[in-house]
Amino acid sequence: MSQTVTMDKIVAFCKRRGFVYQSSEIYGGIRSSYDYGPLGVEMKRNIKEEWWRHLVHMREDVVGLDAAIIMHPRVWEASGHTATFNDMLVESRTSGRRYRADHLIEEATGADAEGMSAEEMTRIIAEDGRIKDPVDGGRDFAPVRPFNLMFETYTGPVKSPENVVYLRPETAQGIFVNFKNVMQTNRVKVPFGIAQQGKSFRNEITPGNFIFRTREFEQMEMEFFVEPGTDEEWHEYWLEQRWNWYTSLGINPENLRRYEHPKEKLSHYAKRTVDIEYNFPFRGWSELEGIANRTDFDLKQHAEFSGENLEYFDQATNSRYVPYVIEPAAGPDRIMLAFLVDAYREEEVNGESRTVLKLHPRIAPTKAAVFPLSKKEPVSTVARQLYEDLKGDYRIFYDDSGAIGRRYRRQDEAGTPFCVTVDFDSLEDKQVTIRDRDTMEQERIPIAAVRDRLQGLISG
Ligand code: ATP
Repeated sequence: MSQTVTMDKIVAFCKRRGFVYQSSEIYGGIRSSYDYGPLGVEMKRNIKEEWWRHLVHMREDVVGLDAAIIMHPRVWEASGHTATFNDMLVESRTSGRRYRADHLIEEATGADAEGMSAEEMTRIIAEDGRIKDPVDGGRDFAPVRPFNLMFETYTGPVKSPENVVYLRPETAQGIFVNFKNVMQTNRVKVPFGIAQQGKSFRNEITPGNFIFRTREFEQMEMEFFVEPGTDEEWHEYWLEQRWNWYTSLGINPENLRRYEHPKEKLSHYAKRTVDIEYNFPFRGWSELEGIANRTDFDLKQHAEFSGENLEYFDQATNSRYVPYVIEPAAGPDRIMLAFLVDAYREEEVNGESRTVLKLHPRIAPTKAAVFPLSKKEPVSTVARQLYEDLKGDYRIFYDDSGAIGRRYRRQDEAGTPFCVTVDFDSLEDKQVTIRDRDTMEQERIPIAAVRDRLQGLISG
């Protein structure tokens, strides 16, 4: 069952089946960077597609955007990132290692260190004998200092301070700075949303847990602009929508929960934030997605810093206001890890063991495999023709080598929900066998009906 899956098992599985590789592995790898292999890239694309379909294509009140990663540096002053997007860093003088000070304190003492000042943390680390360097047990630490997580680089050939730019640490700001553009060029009316997916970068002090926390990752964020006063209702609405997205794609609801951020710990921009958490077997309840009421903070900041008027004119009431914003912010890498863990099973079937990924068909990297029972004609010709008819809508895999049982097992591991087998009888009765990954039941259906049947099963 999923709760016994260890991180080592998932990492090894992901490599063996071509889901995720360590980046630059032939050079010894680089910490916190991962590459998505042939199955992984399909799966991550499916997650992003499902998010986009649900939030953009299925709705009339949300439009999409794809903003640049490198933005004007003033954006990050307005948003507060330059001043406050920090983690508390502490360096051990005995091992030379650097740690998140809040994590060291929390792990050693159980105290809640989030939101403490650097001075307070420095004092606690010096005075509390339980806090030790996890590597060598040392108790000699440099003073705690805030460390800004934004990656800095330079535009142009001159590495001078006026050319400093940042790799965006979140996709949200690209949406806020385009609020006016979208309003003026599309006939949108509040309430409406702007959705975006793309890479974000954070120089995390302690990345880890595989693709859960990396320094380069993807985000899927939507800013939903609403009239002030209606924000609390919309917040509840989006919490429900986002919860249902996970469960409709097969995540076991017992492994999901809501986490309400305590008022005193909210980010500077938030009125209320609720996370959707997943119970990862190797780290317990952890954030998959944060759903925040960002108020009018960002638009007001950008209006002030840019000098542009970012108010909305409501024609119905003939009034102007700066909208409030509800933001569901998720990450497809982290979500993919949750889907993998939730779907991974090792089962005993008729005395044989099988590994199976019980992924929802929409998330599965390959939707169906086509197997000719024999490599030879005419069975192979019929199978090949079927494959040609099915491909194009989604990834279909053709496999004519090895015993049929082994071919099934390989697809079970890859999460392929359906296998279609062409056998000798198919030549006569024009029917094929379609096998279900989870029940392993087989059904004979006309070749001519396969395409529609798969369509129904996948979108089901
Ligand atoms: P955490 O507390 O785990 O660092 P956060 O609260 O800083 O996360 P947000 O700023 O709310 O994260 O970002 C929204 C989403 O982006 C997160 O829910 C997560 O799915 C994803 N995300 C954030 N940081 C990372 C990271 N370093 N690696 C992978 N995904 C990330």
